[in-house]
Amino acid sequence: MRFDTRLIHARQPPDPLTGAVNPPIYLSSTFRQRAPNEHQGWVYGRSGNPTRAVLEAAIGDLESGAGGLAFSSGLGALVTLLEEFPSGSRIVAGDDLYGGTWRLFEHHRRQFGLRVDYVDTSEPDAVAAAFASPADLLYVESPTNPLLKISDLRALARIAHAHGARMAVDNTFATPALQRPLELGADIVLHSTTKYLGGHSDVIGGALVLRKAADVERFAWLQNAAGAVPSPFDCFLVLRGIHTLGVRMRAHTAAATAVARALEGHRRVRAVHYPGLRSHPQYALARRQMDGSGGIVSVEVAGGMRAARRFVAGLEVFTLAESLGGVESLVDHPASMTHASVPKAERERHGVRDGLLRLSCGIEDPADLVDDVRAALRRL
Ligand SMILES: *Cc1c(COP(=O)(O)O)cnc(C)c1O
Repeated sequence: MRFDTRLIHARQPPDPLTGAVNPPIYLSSTFRQRAPNEHQGWVYGRSGNPTRAVLEAAIGDLESGAGGLAFSSGLGALVTLLEEFPSGSRIVAGDDLYGGTWRLFEHHRRQFGLRVDYVDTSEPDAVAAAFASPADLLYVESPTNPLLKISDLRALARIAHAHGARMAVDNTFATPALQRPLELGADIVLHSTTKYLGGHSDVIGGALVLRKAADVERFAWLQNAAGAVPSPFDCFLVLRGIHTLGVRMRAHTAAATAVARALEGHRRVRAVHYPGLRSHPQYALARRQMDGSGGIVSVEVAGGMRAARRFVAGLEVFTLAESLGGVESLVDHPASMTHASVPKAERERHGVRDGLLRLSCGIEDPADLVDDVRAALRRL
């Protein structure tokens, strides 16, 4: 089956009991046993739930993995991933990460003796140099948040594996509709399903997908041991979102492309970051590695914080809010919102300056989104 068909049918058979085409929401924390340890495969809601199992199987299939696991949030998935790495382990991570990811890495560094080095993963040579000393995990976002840098996942997996390390990719921005890291050699995919997989800004969730069956078993054990699991209702919402992922990602990409073009070249715009623009440094790689450029555009306006605030105030269709990936367009000011937990000097060293804005282009009519950013630009 092709991808858009798999979104709706892969590992999602009608309910065997009733024929319901959607999985029932099994609101039961526990399951009857006929005799001690004699059960029907379901024991306790943290260890497993039938609604969650459908979501997990579907995500696992869409990412071409051996299996998927669902979590209560993206960071719930990440903290469970980190349970795998004892103190003294070394992680080589991208230097333009989701702020909460960076915060959790730093917490584990200070609190539990994890060693973390940050490098620009869009430069394979920089990654190879970081592997001069041994490491256990290469952790990559592509595209990155908020600068939309693209990393060559196939090349990076080769480097990690040559040094006996595993590679994890946060695929939240691209989604499996546009990019499947496990097919390019990654070992682990992480998602904040809060974003595009859920797709409607109405649920917080996360997922891990593993390339190897042994890793599925290992992380299922950690999922149960650490307990950051989602509710059955939230699993249903994410699964419902997944059904329309294909059409939504095409609409998001069309909208973002129109918005990026409208911003590019304006005299008050210092830079537009979007992998679908020819001016993007990894444009050719993005074309090769992805089936579309996605819905996020970041733009740096001239004039720093004051200009950024004026631009935001001039938007009517874009709502000022954290998060991304929903049907409605959102604008974020990373320096004061999503990335405020990263110190200013650290942020600016990586290009997240005060004039930077991140636009999550929704699936409204692209012409209205273009009109909206043009009106905001006129206020600068
Ligand atoms: C939002 C986000 C996360 C964290 O996910 P939550 O669901 O908010 O915990 C991780 N990575 C990326 C790229 C994100 O955008």
